[in-house]
Amino acid sequence: MTAPELTAADWIARAATITPSDELFIDGRSRPAASGRTFADIAGRDGSLIAQVAEGDAADVDGAVTAARRAFDDGRWSNRKPAERKRVLLRLADLIRDHVDELALLESLDAGKPIRDTLAVDVPSAATTFQWYAETIDKVYGEVGPTGPDALSLVTREPIGVVAAIVPWNYPLIISAWKLGAALSTGNAVVLKPASQTPLSAIRLAELAVEAGLPAGVLNVVTGPGAVVGSALARHPGVDKVSFTGSTPVGLSLMRDIGETDVKAITLELGGKSPQVVLSDCGDLEAAASAIGWGIFYNGGQTCNAGSRLIVHRSVRQELVERIAALGRELQPGEPLDPATRLGAMVDGSHLEKVLGYVRLGVGEGATVIAGGERVMAETGGFYVPPTILDGVDNGWRVAREEIFGPVLTVTEFEDEADALAIANDTHFGLAAGIWTRDVTKAHRMARAMRAGVVWVNTFDTADITVPFGGFKQSGFGRDKGLHALDGYTQLKTTWFDLTER
Ligand code: NAD
Repeated sequence: MTAPELTAADWIARAATITPSDELFIDGRSRPAASGRTFADIAGRDGSLIAQVAEGDAADVDGAVTAARRAFDDGRWSNRKPAERKRVLLRLADLIRDHVDELALLESLDAGKPIRDTLAVDVPSAATTFQWYAETIDKVYGEVGPTGPDALSLVTREPIGVVAAIVPWNYPLIISAWKLGAALSTGNAVVLKPASQTPLSAIRLAELAVEAGLPAGVLNVVTGPGAVVGSALARHPGVDKVSFTGSTPVGLSLMRDIGETDVKAITLELGGKSPQVVLSDCGDLEAAASAIGWGIFYNGGQTCNAGSRLIVHRSVRQELVERIAALGRELQPGEPLDPATRLGAMVDGSHLEKVLGYVRLGVGEGATVIAGGERVMAETGGFYVPPTILDGVDNGWRVAREEIFGPVLTVTEFEDEADALAIANDTHFGLAAGIWTRDVTKAHRMARAMRAGVVWVNTFDTADITVPFGGFKQSGFGRDKGLHALDGYTQLKTTWFDLTER
């Protein structure tokens, strides 16, 4: 249950005594890795060890896929009445809400996220996702084809089978819920592979799912290195579908794994370098600065759709950038377990180095750092980067083309609208885009021309489980969220009946 009255000291005391589940979860029970090996799971907030987690490998993947295959093939889940499956997933949503403190703490420790966000956003949003997909189970109908009086043709949706869900570390619980909500509601069995930086909430989620009544084997979790576990899942003949969220290079590697082995479905939710285009008539600059600032600094910029490229008209540039910089200075990182903290840590030391390396690269390319740019709070042992703004960036530079995945905003100026659109679309990513203008015609025209899966107008990063999310171009294909996500976990079957008199 929620305990909003807990102080930073209370949360830190809880963190010191927590003993998270740290084993694989296969066929309804916890077990160590077949090899007996473990890996260190480190907290971004202070570099301390949270747990030694089971290091799965191809043998464990085989065990998990075999369990999932058996669970799918004998129909223990897929053949249950829709109303029964709905009850189980609704119970899981309730259990997630009942365990909000525990799950929020695991997520904050693993990912370095502020506890106020994991309590108020990550955990409740995961519960809402399961509830929403549970409620679709007995509301999605099949079709009867218009095939004439002599035939009856039924078009039914069937689960794909065994789904490998491979998820990243930036929103571990939320992204797992998107995939599991859609996959389980449609009757599939799943092997979930969390990122090695953030394995704990996935393991706990699988335990709660069994407590909610999900039959053994329907949801399995294998932790371990991505190149071993993720790749073994993609290559396993018992897996029918890979649903991946992560970086573009790993998405490409998974397509190679599948291409070299067999035919299976894949959806890819990949990286981004989303533009925020601010026109001269954007109106309330303070509101725009706040949304643009939060759109890059929230979660330490470790967000796939972060608005990381500000493309701003010359006439409003100075005032807007000053306001965003003021927000950045106010939003200094702090102890993630302090409920007052709005900006937490980078997920780990190597990611911190990557982000700072990009700041140095930007300076070398000619950018001016007008906020942040240096590591802070190093004395904690944690990995903190303050909001950083790189001004005077040319869209051809690497800092404007590659995903930094930190709280780093690049600023590029434009003179006319056509230039703005060309700069915004001049990227190999296509996940999201923002447009700021009071002119409704311009807004529609630009939104239509943006090559991105999500376009926000006069807002940024607003989200709801009812609408799909996913990218164009190198940001991937397929969609999470909304009813459209169900397409990725089902296949259509056409069944003909001959009605002619014989
Ligand atoms: P990542 O690609 O390094 O890892 C993602 C997952 O893949 C992890 O579970 C990892 O263990 C596994 N993996 C790593 N190497 C693998 C391999 N060779 N074969 C199979 N699996 C492998 O990504 P990350 O660093 O965890 O997350 C950040 C990335 O995720 C960013 O690029 C971000 O934009 C992207 N992301 C995209 C979305 C979206 O919806 N489009 C959402 C969140 C994050």
